[in-house]
Amino acid sequence: MAQSIEIEEHITVGTLAEKLMMPVSRLITELMKNGVMATVNERIDFDTAQIIINELGLEVELTRKEDTDSIIPRTKKSYGDNERSVPRPPVVAVMGHVDHGKTSLLDVIRGAKVAESEAGGITQHISAYQITYNNRPITFLDTPGHEAFATIREHGAHLTDIAVIVIAADDGVKPQTVEAIRFARKAGVKMIVAITKIDKPEADANRIKQQLTEHKLLAEEWGGDTVIVEVSAKANKGINNLLDMIQLVADVEDLRAEVDVPAIGLIIEANTEPGRGPAAHALIENGTLKRGDFITTGSTYAKVRNLESAAGVPILSATPSMPVIITGFKSLPEFGDEFEVVANEHLAKSRANTEKIKKNTINGRLDLDSIDLIKIINRSNQLETYDVIIKADVQGSLTSVLDSLKALETDEVAVKAIGSGVGLVNENDVQLAHGSNAVIYAFNASVPTNVKRLANRDKVVIHEYKIIYELIDDIRAELSQMLSPEIIETDLGKLRVKAIFKTTKSEVICGGEVIAGKLAVPAQAKITRAKKQIAEVEVTNLKRGPQDVKEVEKGEMCGISLKTEKKINLLEGDILGLFKRESIERKL
Ligand code: GDP
Repeated sequence: MAQSIEIEEHITVGTLAEKLMMPVSRLITELMKNGVMATVNERIDFDTAQIIINELGLEVELTRKEDTDSIIPRTKKSYGDNERSVPRPPVVAVMGHVDHGKTSLLDVIRGAKVAESEAGGITQHISAYQITYNNRPITFLDTPGHEAFATIREHGAHLTDIAVIVIAADDGVKPQTVEAIRFARKAGVKMIVAITKIDKPEADANRIKQQLTEHKLLAEEWGGDTVIVEVSAKANKGINNLLDMIQLVADVEDLRAEVDVPAIGLIIEANTEPGRGPAAHALIENGTLKRGDFITTGSTYAKVRNLESAAGVPILSATPSMPVIITGFKSLPEFGDEFEVVANEHLAKSRANTEKIKKNTINGRLDLDSIDLIKIINRSNQLETYDVIIKADVQGSLTSVLDSLKALETDEVAVKAIGSGVGLVNENDVQLAHGSNAVIYAFNASVPTNVKRLANRDKVVIHEYKIIYELIDDIRAELSQMLSPEIIETDLGKLRVKAIFKTTKSEVICGGEVIAGKLAVPAQAKITRAKKQIAEVEVTNLKRGPQDVKEVEKGEMCGISLKTEKKINLLEGDILGLFKRESIERKL
């Protein structure tokens, strides 16, 4: 039976060695093998301890003891519930189909509303910014794509309060619009629909409202509760109305956070800036971040050297919902990771180290830089796509898998690799797959147990292959299933109606002469009158004299029973063209 050990969320290397009854040097060596230089007094966290115990092959079951360290609550709700909480600005993400005018809308909002002094500072793409409207701030996330939104959501930060779904008035609801609605709905964020480009002559806002009803978004004026505003970025129309609505929705939501606690937040973009080293764009979720604070995020940490507003203006502190730029990181932080203020550098370093070990283990000790970051193939697609994430052992095999999948593409179906990379299947892959309903295909890339567990929990499917053709064949089969079946109709024979015996709402019995081919049951029949088709019916029975028969040949007379959907007034002289309809599954 496995020995059971109870530890807190963090434990020093020395104490863990003691509990495991092993020399501390052996534990330190194992940590080193996993890329972590931790001394006897340094702390590692529960997950890391678990990984090391697995790596050592020990029969030890770890259980988590209530941590006595005060852990900052993680849910937005709990900040709001706290009696110390104060109102905070809404965080708004603008989403929608490509070319529907997201960027233009964000530009006009920013251009019009950011103070001149700040606007002057903006020269590069910024991932988030804050405007002031009616003397109250609103934060906009300039999300690079749905992938970003999915990641943000998956990190449980629930940072977005309001999603503005942008739909071009001259184009209507598109696949990415539907995807955006689905994301927003799943993440539980409030939606505001902005119908853009209403200045265009072909704009038709009503048609879009109609389309939205199919996605359970009913305009307020039609008795629903979806806020829909009409705007034009080009003509600068309706922008204030949109901002009013955003503030209204935010007021109803009563968004709150605490300010007098150490900050936590999310990294929304990271890059290395010449002369400044690694810098991150981040959003404060709760608490106050100050210059000089120590923060950890993922496997890196920082002493906050420069703290700037999103526009690059130096500030001393930042409060909830504020986007900021932070410098001082030891290495480049990762997009989508949470950050958190800790008491001192020692703690920051040890947290970062424990994260590093987790990651190295997950990635099978691969060089992290070699991992191809998630790529989004942003196709404006009418076709149906099968969304996948492909992981392979080496770049060469990854390229050939991706090329082979591309070759499967037809006008109707295609494989969309929403992510791909070299290395083991990791937690990020599972999160992305979960957020986008994608399936993970691993070619010669193994899946660590903890990743399998996560996948299991999130119902993400991971298929593993050793042979490339099998992977391709399986995906081909999936695509084949997505193809609508081919309908084949085979003509049997024709009958000219000579007499009608009975007509009800759902049945007609008549008699006639077979004038071509051979009649057989069961079959379908097209009724034509003066060469025009007037109905399609089902043939349920054939009679030669009083006898039920299966077939009747050309030249013979017969009785025929038809099942109809509605009453049909069959006339003498009408022609019944009998045929068989088969639906045949198509294959790629
Ligand atoms: P995004 O891909 O959703 O960010 O779309 P963009 O903002 O890049 O806009 C796509 C195209 O639509 C560009 O050519 C814009 O000039 C145009 N566009 C955007 N907003 C409007 C608008 O309100 N009216 C008109 N007439 N054109 C617009």
